[in-house]
Amino acid sequence: MAAPAQVPDWMRPQGLPEHRMPSAQALQRLQAGNVRHRQQRAGNAPPPGDATPAGYPFAVVLGCLEPGAVGEHLFAEKPGAIEVVRNAGPSLGTDAMAAVEYAALVQNVGVVLVLAHQGCGVLAAAAAARAAGDLPLPGLLGPWVPLAAAGTRLGDPAVGHVRALRWALRRADSLLGLTRSGRLKIAAGVLDPVTGAIEFLPDEPDEVEDDSTSTRVNVVTYGS
Ligand SMILES: [Zn+2]
Repeated sequence: MAAPAQVPDWMRPQGLPEHRMPSAQALQRLQAGNVRHRQQRAGNAPPPGDATPAGYPFAVVLGCLEPGAVGEHLFAEKPGAIEVVRNAGPSLGTDAMAAVEYAALVQNVGVVLVLAHQGCGVLAAAAAARAAGDLPLPGLLGPWVPLAAAGTRLGDPAVGHVRALRWALRRADSLLGLTRSGRLKIAAGVLDPVTGAIEFLPDEPDEVEDDSTSTRVNVVTYGS
């Protein structure tokens, strides 16, 4: 049986507006929020914004678990407006994918931001482990390595990695209805943890050289 394109209505939060924030507006709001955050860090803070909690999130950010790698504060938003999923890399294993699907299909967020950061030790370790070849690793680290190393051979490791994950999310069957119609944007960026500035990659198609040839995210091999 083919998977349905939508979740049943009873899965949605009560009172959720029918229309999600337009995806272009959601992305612009993330970018503007990061500018505000940098101004606040530099001591040029604009007057405090509305502190009323947001009714629903409009964005989900997938970032790395390392200290300072990501956080709601980077977007200077009202509480509840941004959701953050953190894991090592980040990688896009099944739990991370389900979290993105939950945000996009149940909560109707308008944008998913895949965020790496400069100086990421996780990406360096994953890339080194992949280069070392078939070495045995404990637990789930073995299958995790290709996910966290995805794209790291494509120029700058952090940029290549977020491009590989963005590419994978844009091709995910579960999100195709939203991404192809433009109702959901998959964005990518790299954080400078020293300044708090996020460099958003241009919103353009990814042409990721893929030596694994898989096109399905949940088969756990994508990008190179
Ligand atoms: Zn990291």
